[in-house]
Amino acid sequence: MVRQGARWKIGTGFNIPIIIEPWIRSGSSISSIGDVMLALQPCSVGYLIDQEEKVWNESLVHQLFPVETTQNILNTPLYHQVQMDRLIWKAEKNGNYSVRSAYRICIEEVINNDHLRKPGYWSGIWRLKVPPKVKSLVWRICRDCFPTRVKLRSRGVNCSSECVRCEDPHEDSYHILFHCPLAVDIWQSANMWHLISPSLSQFDNAPDIIFNLLQIFNLLQRLSAAQIEHIVTIMWSIWKARNLKLWQQVSDSTITILERARHLLEGWREANRKQVSIRQDNSSSTPSSSHHNRDANISWKKPTSGKYKCNVDASFPNTTNKVGIGMCIRDSDGNHVRSKTMWFSQTCSIHIGEALGLYHAIRWIHELQFTNVDFEVDSKRVADYFNNGRGDVTEFGSIMESSIYFLNNHLTNSHVEFIRRQANEVAHNLVKAATSSTSFQVFDDIPTCIIDLIFNEMI
Ligand SMILES: [Zn+2]
Repeated sequence: MVRQGARWKIGTGFNIPIIIEPWIRSGSSISSIGDVMLALQPCSVGYLIDQEEKVWNESLVHQLFPVETTQNILNTPLYHQVQMDRLIWKAEKNGNYSVRSAYRICIEEVINNDHLRKPGYWSGIWRLKVPPKVKSLVWRICRDCFPTRVKLRSRGVNCSSECVRCEDPHEDSYHILFHCPLAVDIWQSANMWHLISPSLSQFDNAPDIIFNLLQIFNLLQRLSAAQIEHIVTIMWSIWKARNLKLWQQVSDSTITILERARHLLEGWREANRKQVSIRQDNSSSTPSSSHHNRDANISWKKPTSGKYKCNVDASFPNTTNKVGIGMCIRDSDGNHVRSKTMWFSQTCSIHIGEALGLYHAIRWIHELQFTNVDFEVDSKRVADYFNNGRGDVTEFGSIMESSIYFLNNHLTNSHVEFIRRQANEVAHNLVKAATSSTSFQVFDDIPTCIIDLIFNEMI
């Protein structure tokens, strides 16, 4: 309760007591249970860390903790760039306390609203990139406040419980979405039944099936974003068809239902794309981000005469807990000078991976004693923080501050710039190779995975 809303960022770990404090991945803690835990009471997290290498002392952690806790500890990332232990605020991206987020946490966590709470993978719903009305429908189904006939009857509404479309005697959300022959026909026509049916054999209610699909998408990545977005939008369209039948006696065909979903989703995506480009237009205050140049930076540009360019990218393969980093230096004729790939065994967020990529590229350029190097990254957050950001107290901020400090002190005439993904393909292709290799590699000759790109971009 004391630490509600906060978590530790681990520097040395010597200021963080092992017991009770929220220092494990995403801010969980070890409560004091059992003799071993009692004995650990006076100890700090620092004793569990190999300070030289800045990694967990795995054998010690294995000895001291039960299996699950051990896994959680070992999955808690440690970074060389974080030097001081610090309590940071979980609810804000930059780790700083704010009244707004504190209020949110109060509502969500402190006030006892267990009776309102339902276990489930709620964040999976909010992360969906679908129209708000689709999201809200999915949320209502999962909250079990979806006005099916069975639900209405349970609330005392005097109505039939028969399915509006097939006369099955039990019209609940499971039936409408997954059991009704008309729904099954829709999923089959959309060629999605094989994606959904494995969840149906595990769960017998709509919320669990939806949470399971979201988990398969987000955590296991066995569904693509396009598939999961399509699936939930079709659910919306099925519900719409059910209401049209009930209130207007209209019977939509399977094709109509699928087309309505496709239209809604595509229309919304298109409108969103336009909004994003309008926002970018409005926020372009510098001449370099004018129309002309924005189109131009879709392709890679050679550095100006006498300069070098280092393209950097990070990647996160689905199957392993690794971050791969790729970097490639080219001269003003577009010639390949040198490339490097690295990987780290660590689960971390995308922007931390990108920040680590830039950090290691800057260190590498310094080792090679180059000056006059411009770095290009395709993470806007990293480039923006590097050039304008301050005050992020999370691990991301620590890594970025280390990069800024290092570049300012050791590299002259170097900058960090944001480029589009399409212009960063060399680094992107390299990094794919990084994650499949077992250690870091330096290439003096052009690695085969980028030969074509290098030559194309020379022209
Ligand atoms: Zn039915």
